[in-house]
Amino acid sequence: MQRNTTTSLWLFQAFGIDVYVHWSWFFVAVMQISSRPNEYTAFYWKVVEYLSLFALVLLHEFGHALACRSVGGEADTIILWPLGGIAFVRPPARPGAVLWSIFAGPLVNLTLILPLAILTLLTPPDTDLRHYLGITTLINIGLFCFNMLPVYPLDGGQILQALLWFAIGRWRSLQVVSAIGFVFGIASIGVLLLLVALQVVTLGSVLVLGLISLFVAVVSANSFRVARHAQHMQDLPRHADCACPSCLTGPPRGKFWTCEECEAQFDTFDTRGVCPDCGAWFLPTTCPDCRETHHIDRWFSCRPGVGLVEPEESSW
Ligand SMILES: [Zn+2]
Ligand SMILES: [Zn+2]
Ligand SMILES: [Zn+2]
Repeated sequence: MQRNTTTSLWLFQAFGIDVYVHWSWFFVAVMQISSRPNEYTAFYWKVVEYLSLFALVLLHEFGHALACRSVGGEADTIILWPLGGIAFVRPPARPGAVLWSIFAGPLVNLTLILPLAILTLLTPPDTDLRHYLGITTLINIGLFCFNMLPVYPLDGGQILQALLWFAIGRWRSLQVVSAIGFVFGIASIGVLLLLVALQVVTLGSVLVLGLISLFVAVVSANSFRVARHAQHMQDLPRHADCACPSCLTGPPRGKFWTCEECEAQFDTFDTRGVCPDCGAWFLPTTCPDCRETHHIDRWFSCRPGVGLVEPEESSW
């Protein structure tokens, strides 16, 4: 998902995290509030109910963002969409850190279930406040259950991926869950279309579910491609005598570099940054694994998984 805040309205900042709302949110909000039957004696309760749904979503997203920060990851943006919220989190690439960053979202909803239920039961029956709290309790339980579905890219699917990561590695686990997500997304679109064709449900009533299924299928298909490519990269034979100073990974063996002068294909780690055909030098070298760029000599002062082994050369 692209972090695009130009079509969104900035709401506020808390704990260094900027919260935006996408413009389409207002459009869908008006539609939703005016189309639902009013079960309250006063209209404004419907507005409060709808806003509470997004307050719960927002707390959920703050759960992700703050947990991600607590393990040293980056998280500075939350965007609210009509279908929910997105916290842009980049936890460190460790299964435990990812597991905590993802689980902290649903954990917020789980924690709120009991206080909301108690508050509801303490309120006098047959009042707007009681009805509102009852609905909000159910919405919160619904949010928890929906997010915990083990379908990538929903939280439950990402939790499953982090758990599998411990056993079969990052990219294989992503291939497994994104394959499941893709099949699930396509299957639910099929089921929904069948139900519409049999006139069991109307197209309008399943439109949101259909869009979510489509989103699940598209994101899963994309992630599967990314994971397969990354697994392929990881399986390549590696140099053992040098490593990226940032991610400590040995660079892949093979002619992956192209000379800008003579267009020869060569392995820059075989020749230490020199084109074997024309002798041109290519000293800054970008890591194919983490995209950081370092001088070729710094690569050779590191070893895979170890880091710096030789003092860096200093000039006199
Ligand atoms: Zn979440
Ligand atoms: Zn690297
Ligand atoms: Zn060359």
